[in-house]
Amino acid sequence: VLSVRQLRKSYAGNPVLKSVDLSVHQGEIACLIGPSGAGKSTILRCINFLEKPEAGEITFFGERLCSEDGNVFHTAPERALQAARARMPMVFQHFNLFSHRTVIENVMEGQIVVLRRHKDEARERARTCLARVGMLDRAEFYPDQLSGGQKQRVAIARALAMSPALILFDEPTSALDPGLVQEVQSVMRDLSAEGMTMLIVTHDMRLVKSIATTVHFCADGHILESGSPALLLHKTNPGRIRTFMAAAA
Ligand code: ATP
Ligand code: MG
Repeated sequence: VLSVRQLRKSYAGNPVLKSVDLSVHQGEIACLIGPSGAGKSTILRCINFLEKPEAGEITFFGERLCSEDGNVFHTAPERALQAARARMPMVFQHFNLFSHRTVIENVMEGQIVVLRRHKDEARERARTCLARVGMLDRAEFYPDQLSGGQKQRVAIARALAMSPALILFDEPTSALDPGLVQEVQSVMRDLSAEGMTMLIVTHDMRLVKSIATTVHFCADGHILESGSPALLLHKTNPGRIRTFMAAAA
């Protein structure tokens, strides 16, 4: 589905991603973990071009979003990037819902503006997606009237409404009160059981253990290790990863 090769990105001359290699396959639940400041959010933002990478190659369903030819870095036309971005929506830590729109309007918006779906079709699809996350009964509420867990479920419904090929999650449960984490994790587990492909940045080792098919450990602008959760969580791992795991568990 997605392949990232030798991805590089700096801010003001300060290299944040030095050379990131990462693949996500169909139906895979890939979790990206690592210390704060490692570059995890930057990786997600480069993958869907919320940030422009500097060098390297990103391929999404066989289409090159950026690549290097000799020493020249090419980026696909903006229209192609937009189309790709629509197929890999992102779910953020702080939900990023429109506060002046109702729940169902939030879930309809991207379908109408980006996918140019007709309003009726968008509303129908929004209802289906809200039902999937157990939020249909809140369709006419405003985000302010919802708990954090409910807001995040709406944000997930909004991503689902785009008929995504891949959903990117950036710490979807870390802004939630402990009691609300479970309801969001349970929605994510349902999606994984239905075969949705996901790339999840998280600090939550419980989520990693319960959902991940692959774990990538990111530090210092590289992916240091990739493998099954069992492999990465295993005690015989190199010191650094083991220390991180022990602290996060
Ligand atoms: P966390 O776990 O705290 O969310 P992270 O792994 O997601 O961390 P990033 O947000 O990707 O880390 O940031 C990696 C580095 O890049 C940090 O040192 C950060 O200060 C820097 N950085 C990120 N975004 C910008 C920006 N827009 N301008 C300048 N520096 C940035
Ligand atoms: Mg981050």
